[in-house]
Formats: sequence, structure tokens, C-alpha cells
Amino acid sequence: MADNKFVYFFGNEETEGKNSMKDLLGGKGANLAEMANLGIPVPPGFTITTEVCLLYLEKGVYPEEVIDQINNAVIKLEKVTGKKFGDTENPLLISVRSGARVSMPGMMDTVLNLGLNDDTVIGLSKKTGNDRFAYDSYRRFLTMFGDVVLDIEHEKFESALSAKKKTLGVIQDTELDASALKELAEQFKEIIRKETGTDFPQEPRKQLQMAIDAVFNSWNNQRAITYRRLNNIPGKWGTAVNVQSMVYGNMGETSGTGVAFTRDPATGDKRFFGEYLMNAQGEDVVAGIRTPEPISTLKDNLPEAYARLEAIYHKLEDHFRDMQDIEFTIEEGKLFMLQTRTGKRTAAAALKIAVDMVNEGLIDKRTAVTRVSPEQIDRLLHPTLDSQAEFEVLATGLPASPGAAVGKVVFTAEHAEEMAKANEKVILVRTETSPEDIGGMDAAQGILTVRGGMTSHAAVVARGMGKPCVAGCGSVTIDMASCAFSVSDVTINEGDYVTIDGSTGSLILGEVELVTPGVSGELDTLLSWADEIREMGVRTNADTPHDAQVARDFGAEGIGLCRTEHMFFGEDRIPAVREMILAEDTEVRKAALDKLLPMQKEDFIGLFKVMDGLPVTIRLLDPPLHEFLPKHEELADKLRSLEAEKGSDSEIERIKKIMERVDSMVEVNPMLGHRGCRLGITYPEIYEMQVRAIIEAACELKAGGMDIVPEIMIPLVSHVNELRSTKEDLVEVAESVMAEKNCKFDYLVGTMIELPRAALTADKIAEEAEFFSFGTNDLTQTTFGFSRDDAGKFLPVYIENSILPSDPFAVLDQEGVGELVKIGIEKGRSTRPDIKIGICGEHGGEPSSVKFGYNIGLNYVSCSPFRVPIARLAAAQAVIEKQDN
Ligand code: ADP
Ligand code: MG
Ligand code: MG
Repeated sequence: MADNKFVYFFGNEETEGKNSMKDLLGGKGANLAEMANLGIPVPPGFTITTEVCLLYLEKGVYPEEVIDQINNAVIKLEKVTGKKFGDTENPLLISVRSGARVSMPGMMDTVLNLGLNDDTVIGLSKKTGNDRFAYDSYRRFLTMFGDVVLDIEHEKFESALSAKKKTLGVIQDTELDASALKELAEQFKEIIRKETGTDFPQEPRKQLQMAIDAVFNSWNNQRAITYRRLNNIPGKWGTAVNVQSMVYGNMGETSGTGVAFTRDPATGDKRFFGEYLMNAQGEDVVAGIRTPEPISTLKDNLPEAYARLEAIYHKLEDHFRDMQDIEFTIEEGKLFMLQTRTGKRTAAAALKIAVDMVNEGLIDKRTAVTRVSPEQIDRLLHPTLDSQAEFEVLATGLPASPGAAVGKVVFTAEHAEEMAKANEKVILVRTETSPEDIGGMDAAQGILTVRGGMTSHAAVVARGMGKPCVAGCGSVTIDMASCAFSVSDVTINEGDYVTIDGSTGSLILGEVELVTPGVSGELDTLLSWADEIREMGVRTNADTPHDAQVARDFGAEGIGLCRTEHMFFGEDRIPAVREMILAEDTEVRKAALDKLLPMQKEDFIGLFKVMDGLPVTIRLLDPPLHEFLPKHEELADKLRSLEAEKGSDSEIERIKKIMERVDSMVEVNPMLGHRGCRLGITYPEIYEMQVRAIIEAACELKAGGMDIVPEIMIPLVSHVNELRSTKEDLVEVAESVMAEKNCKFDYLVGTMIELPRAALTADKIAEEAEFFSFGTNDLTQTTFGFSRDDAGKFLPVYIENSILPSDPFAVLDQEGVGELVKIGIEKGRSTRPDIKIGICGEHGGEPSSVKFGYNIGLNYVSCSPFRVPIARLAAAQAVIEKQDN
């Protein structure tokens, strides 16, 4: 059947795939085809589709046509290369490479030089006249085949290799001669026999089949599953297999292999950046076996190949309009490209490249806005070393992934994960990392390795995760036996604090103060482009002029939530607050409130001034009053010491009375207790004072020429009558203050929607409310019936067991809580079409929740100051995503 095409050829004019076929061919296969289409030299080969992977994993066998199509493709490959698979005169050797839709570094393994056996290796040697090369290829193939396909511990081959080098007194693999390599090949076959109980399969077709099976099976190995989980990659994508004719970087000193980025992946600087090794193959460069050379020196070594590489990388960047991560091999001076993909980069590099490429005319602003993720913005605002701090650098490695981190030293990934679970901050210190370490790297604050370059596993993965990483810190010696590492005569034990700076490569003993940077330069530019695109407002949650200023500097367009209770906790206020709460009658309470009035007024003046005409939503007192009182135990202690010291009777009496009051106010369930508008209804004088403070503050600033529109917000409304009665009262106060001050201006009275009943009756509530703000923290709490303060006991288990996809207090539960928000918006607008609706609470700065908010029609989100830039970008991306769908 024609539509059952499972194999796609690439590498010449008959290339069948292209870049847009990533779902079917995987990223590697699609881009190999695309390079071939661009006329770039790619060793020919073919791609077996991801569909085959899924069918094979499901059924355990291949559809019949697949085998035929593979056989035909091999024949075609033989024709194109003029070599023959399994031939003893001129053998075709191939690589078998995995390649999923998105790159999964190190997750899947590659087998090189497949097709070699005891006979073809002789053919290869004769054909090339290079005995050493032939047996170098053979021993590599046996290792990779043993490791990847036969699942024999890599270490077994590695230690045989080390022993051989030791016996011969050489250090580098390249110093082994043909006869040593020949002996190694024999030893390796022996290892395979011993470990598997069968002989190494000499038959090339058998080797090919086994390698293909292994790639498909590796889709479901533990490392791959963990990586997918951490990166939200669906298991149902599957991987493709690329079978490609070999080119040889190990043919001598005019051959080599390397990896490069078209721009600096750490800083985003526009310079070619990479590493290579002469007389090497495949993963030698990234495996840290020999220390690779910087790409710039290739210019002197092999100028012609370098010039070609330069032309190709420009071509690739222009074509893909993004920074590329490329892999190449030079065979006796001739350059071949083996891979290109969008390069992983740090947050700083993502930002710089996005802005630079707009300036270079490669991409438009809209595209640039999609090139940086909100999470990356978060990272950019993450800590660096405090420039004021004094410290001594203990050792220096490569600046592999920027940012600074502080934590306790651990030496294994498992330990890192355990410690992180116990809320400890750790720095993972390893000789080098491998894919098994991914969980531990994710759990650590930062990573330090002893070996490896800028493209080592640790560096690549850390940059992807946005973790600070210092790689190749060679002066560090790890002693696993004593759980310590040393740098010359300094010993650092497991559990000791260190600080690393991945921007400079420094390792520092102890804890250094970290600072968080602000929005400037390119970030400012990118966010201004985001602002041009986004339709939803971004406000901030702020209770102090300082926070409000920080948020404005981050681009906040007003305050969406000012929690007035935070003002009550101030040292100068709490005595009056307690006096107010403990008052026996209204008169005494009013007297205490009178003391608070001028302070509240000053608070609001401060906020209004910073916001300078932007809307400010002020929420009236929300928490239960007992939160402001001293705890019973505290009072009991005081009483005991007063009695012991023979304190005055009146003081003892006073404390006793307070204690009685405290005891009487204890609530079994304070979250659902006497709080929010329930306070306003039972103690109207509190809200009256607050509204007076708001209106007086506004009057004062108005007189000075400032334009203020206060938004007064009533919390925890569940029934419209609560709002109606409170509002009536407050409007009366507001009007009378304005009359007193002879000042008139608009103000709004609105409500939080944070209880399911409020969302469900939002049409009625909107008859009174002039705006809504969804308090998604309480709404999540009351919708799930999860107490926020107690959820820590079970939520982690829920998430671990996939009962919930994520913490609903961090990521809005769109299906449940989100549905209530949707209902609330629809019902609210049904009775007051122009009602202004926002969201405050943690979710207002969480990217997926912001995007959801846009799609259901919010006017604005409000979030903590540091999340304002994240929300600005997420809101813009929401618009683009909607347009693209
Ligand atoms: P990964 O996904 O881990 O990067 P690859 O499939 O890209 O694995 O293979 C790793 C390396 O193996 C490549 O960068 C390249 O150096 C080498 N390699 C793969 N196929 C060939 C080939 N046909 N000829 C020469 N080298 C190859
Ligand atoms: Mg690999
Ligand atoms: Mg690769």
C-alpha cells in the first residue's frame, strides 16, 4: 500500500523527507533530510518512522512492509555509496541513531560502525590501507553494540581498554596501535560471549535488526521516561531510527569530529562556538575522554574544512532563522554534517538571540516573543553573587551554565534527591554526569563537575534546566570513600556549604549572599514587544510602597491586590490593633481605630503616589482577628514570669483578661471562620475606618493634582446580601468623607470571588459589584476542600502518584477551579456587561494559568512583583497561541 510508507531516504537528490516532518521522522531525521535538500553534504541514509516505533512497542513485531522497505533502502544506500553491506572488499558501514520529535540529550544511544565483523574489518583495512583505523572502528563498534544493544555494562569494556593502555604505558586512546586495537577487539568479543552467553553476532543484517530494536526499546527505558516526565514529553510520540552511512573522523590527523553552536549558547553572543577533536569519532568530544580543542583552532589546522563549516553554519542559521546546534565530522579533510537542531540555550542567551535576530532582520518581533519562555524570564530574574560580598574563589572551572547557587555538597544523584525532598538546598558534585543523574541534577540548586567541557552532558543538561553549572573543575579531587572532595590542601566534606557561580566558573567555600537582577536592556526590549501584543492587563499584588515600586519597575499597570492586614502587623500599629480587638464596647473600639486611621491613610498615600494614577485595588481586612493577638502559650509564659517576679496585680489581671479573650476567640477552622466580610458585618467600624482612610488619602492627593481611582474590595463574599449590606455602609462613609473634604471623584466597590457560591451566583453579585477579582488561592482551597495549611501532608503524594498533575495552589486547576472562574465571568457579565474582572493570588503569575485567564476573558491578572515580567510575556504568548490555533 502506497500510504504505508515507513522508511524515508535522505542524503542526495532523492531525499524524501523535510524539516516539517518532525512528527514522523523525528527531529534528527527531518533535519538531516532538510540539510540534504539544502545541498549540504550529509552522509546518505534513511529514517524509519516514529509510527514504526509505536507499532513495534505495541505489538512486539514489525509490520511486514517495514522489513522490505528497510531492505530496499539498504540496497539503495549501497548503490549511492558504491559500497556493500557485509562485503569483504569494500564494506558499507552504518550508524544507527535514535531521534525523537524533540531532542532528548543522552537519552537514546547511537551505534557507530555497524556492519563490521571479523571479515569485513579486514576488507576495511585493505580498502583504506589503514589497519589502525579499521581496528579502532571495530573495537568502538563492539563497545557500543555491547553497551547499547546487548545491555552490557559500559564499564566492562572501559576497564579492559584502561588496562590495555596501562600495560602499554600510553595515556590516550589515539596512542594505541593496530595490533593493540586488534587484541582489544578480541577481548571485547570475549566479554560479549561471557556476559550474554552467546557469540557476538557476525552477520551484519542481524546486527542491524538488533540495533533498530534496541533504539525502539530505549524509548521506554527508565532514563527516557524520567526525562520525558521532567520535560512534559508525551510517551506516545515514539522515536524514529536513522540508519546512516558512516564517515570517519578517526582516519588520522586530517580527520576529526566536533560539535558547535552557531552562537554562544551561554551568553547568546554572535560568535561561532564549539569544540572538536582530531582523529576521533562520535561521542569522544562530549564524553570527556580527551579534552577537546576550541573550534577557532580548526581554522589553522584544516583551513579549507573550516571555511566550508563556516559557510554551512551561516546557511543553516539563515534557513532555520534560529541558533543551531550542529555536529560534524571531517574525513580526510572532507566535511560532512551529521546533525543540526535548534540549540538549547540559557535564558540570557535566549533573550539576547531573540532580540539580536529581530535587529538583524532574521525574525519579527512576534516570533521573538515566542522564543523566550516565561520560565526563562523567571530564571533571568534569579540570583547572582552579590557584588558587595567578599569571598575567596577556591577553584575555577568552565562557566557552563550561568547563575549562582548555594547549597550543601552531595556526591550522588540519589542523595541530592533525598536531601531536596527534605527541603535542603544542595550542590551536586560529580566527576562527570551521565543520564542517570538527571533526577539529582533537577533536585540540586547547581552542579559542579570535575571533567568535561562546555558541551559535556552536565553543561548541556544544566543549561536546559536553567541550573547554574561549573564544569571541568579539574583541581577538584573527589574521594568517594571518605565522602569529601579536596582542592589542594582544603577538604570539603559532604554536607558542607559551597557556592558556585556558573557565569564565571567559580567554586567558593561557604555561603555567599546572592542578589536578584532587575529588568533592563534586552529584557526591557523584549517585554515592550510583548506589551504591544498582549491584550490583558498585568497588575501586581503589593502592600508597601517599596513592593509597589519594584512592581512598577517590572512593568505593573496598577495594584490588583493590596492586603491591608499586612499594614496592621507593623510594630507601631499592633498595640492599637490589639486594643481595637480587645475592646469591650464600640466606643473603646472606635477610639483604637481612630489611632489607626492616620497610619492607614499614610499607607494608602504611599501606594497611590507610587502608582501615580494607575488603578489601586485595596482589599479590606480579611483574616480572623485572633491572628493579630498574642498566642495563648506566649501569654501563659508571661504570666508565669510575672507571678514569679511578683509583678503588679493590675498587670497580672490585664494579662489574664487578654488570655481569656484569646481563648474565647480560638476557632476550630479559622480558614472558614470569622473573617472577610463577616468581620465587616459584625464590626462595621473596622471597614468604616479603612474606607475613610482610603477616601481621605485620595482627597489629599487629588488636591495636589493627582488622579486617583481607588477600588475598594470586599473579601470572602458568598451571598450578594453580604456585599449589599457592606457596600451600603461603605458608600455612606465615602460620600460623607468627600462631602467633608469638599472633594468629588469616582471610586469603585467590588468583591473578591473566592468561594464557589460566589462564582455560581456571580450574576446576582455583579448587580452590586463594580469589579470582580478572583481570589484563586481561597477558591482552590474551598473548591477542593483542601486546607492550604494542611495540604503539605498529602499533596506531594498526590503529585508523585499522578493523582493530580500538579499542585493546584501553584498551577490553576483549569478543569475544576477554572470552570468556576469561567462560570463566574459569564454570569457576572450577564448582569453587568462591562464589569472589570481580574485574578489575584499565586496563579496570576504562573504562565499556564495566565494563558488560561486570557482565553476565558479576564481583563487583567495580578501577581507578586517578581512575576510581573513573566505574566507580561505569558499574556503576549497567549494572544499569539490563540491566533496560531
Ligand atoms: P545523540 O543524539 O546522542 O547526539 P547521534 O545520533 O547524534 O547521538 O550520534 C552521536 C554522534 O555520533 C554524532 O554526533 C556523530 O559524531 C556520530 N555519528 C553518528 N552517525 C554517524 C555517521 N554516520 N558517521 C560518522 N559519525 C556519526
Ligand atoms: Mg547519545
Ligand atoms: Mg547528536
